[in-house]
Amino acid sequence: MPIKKRTLLAATFAAIGIVLVTLAFAVPGPVACTLVALQGFKSLPEGTLVEPGSSQQEQAQVAALLSGARARIEKTYGTPRAQPTIVFFQDSQKFWPLKLNSHGSTNFLGSRACVMVGPKGRNIDVIAHELMHAELFDRVGAWRKFTQIPAWFDEGIAMQVDFRSRYELPPGELANTTYVRRLESTNQFFNQSGQQLVKNYASAKAEVAVWLADVGAQSVYQRFEQIREGEMFSAAVAK
Ligand SMILES: [Zn+2]
Repeated sequence: MPIKKRTLLAATFAAIGIVLVTLAFAVPGPVACTLVALQGFKSLPEGTLVEPGSSQQEQAQVAALLSGARARIEKTYGTPRAQPTIVFFQDSQKFWPLKLNSHGSTNFLGSRACVMVGPKGRNIDVIAHELMHAELFDRVGAWRKFTQIPAWFDEGIAMQVDFRSRYELPPGELANTTYVRRLESTNQFFNQSGQQLVKNYASAKAEVAVWLADVGAQSVYQRFEQIREGEMFSAAVAK
């Protein structure tokens, strides 16, 4: 091959490589979700993926956690219908150099949601929270999710089925939660750390709880459907 052509080819591959690496760091969750297939994860009967070599006991625990989480969603909003890919991993080193949330995260690959549950997320609170993100995504659709649903609302909806006590605000602070409605993009919502991020979650939970007390949690799926059909977010969440 002429040198010029070879250089061009090498440059093209280098460029593709840079794009892939950048993508992996920008969106580690979806990339990790894709990698799971290559890591030999084991598929349980309902399609949940666990690490290869996981014990029967661990698989039973995973099944129990999932059914507990779904029961909690059902009790709050009604029967969930989303069927995201769900991956339980113990060892985030497996995905090195990607940094995965060791609790849980929900990632979106086109029209498919992928819930990654880490070693610290093996509890009903985290799993119900993540499954609720997948539920909203399934019901409003990918496009509407990214163009219509503010981050604070998505988190607030998920927090209703997440009972971790650190996200409960003391009564004195309940009056100061409206600021969270300005955090519309995920960048704005998560661009905090430590106590302020905890406060964002707690405030989103409180704001959505007040709204739900008004409109009824059982009306939420119907409202998601309206958004899917083209109604603006502000109209669909109005009374
Ligand atoms: Zn969340």
